[in-house]
Amino acid sequence: MKILLTETEIAERVAQLGREITEAYRGRELTVITVMNGAVVFAADLLRKIDLPLQLDSFAASSYENDRSSGKITIRSALKLPVRGRHVLLVDDILDTGLSMKCAMEYFRSLDAASVRTCVLMDKMRKDKVCAHADWVGFRIPDRYVVGYGLDSGEYYRNLPYVGILTDELDGQEKA
Ligand code: 5GP
Ligand code: MG
Repeated sequence: MKILLTETEIAERVAQLGREITEAYRGRELTVITVMNGAVVFAADLLRKIDLPLQLDSFAASSYENDRSSGKITIRSALKLPVRGRHVLLVDDILDTGLSMKCAMEYFRSLDAASVRTCVLMDKMRKDKVCAHADWVGFRIPDRYVVGYGLDSGEYYRNLPYVGILTDELDGQEKA
């Protein structure tokens, strides 16, 4: 495993994002919505750094049908709280193609939220993004498959306190 973001780096950046979000929504109430499962660890830490009255909800989305990317996001489990008229902050783990974020944004706008903004822990530097923008980005990272701090490979590694690249994913030069 090659460590990309240490536990300390993540904690410092998450605290900073919490302060920025608190300032941006000062005097308003927030509905934080997390995308399961990848964003749970990030959201759990971020929430505790936001000093505002807020509600928490989550949903699960999938871009895969029968193990093949369908190019379309299916919302698999619905929200429990009403979002109409609420300020929604969507918290996700990583912006890769951006397809999930784009579909989620459209979904929440259709539910008449007062506003929808987004916060991601990581943004992959790739040129072919569908949705290139998140309002808050923790870290801009290279276009590699990362695990840890909520992110999985075959459902494992979510419990790692840091973000890393599996050594199998690295070429010889990077491993050295
Ligand atoms: P999208 O391509 O729609 O932006 O990303 C969809 C989802 O794929 C992300 O929310 C995340 O759960 C997963 N994903 C994208 N890149 C990575 C990665 O490097 N590692 C892991 N573990 N999951 C990823
Ligand atoms: Mg995800």
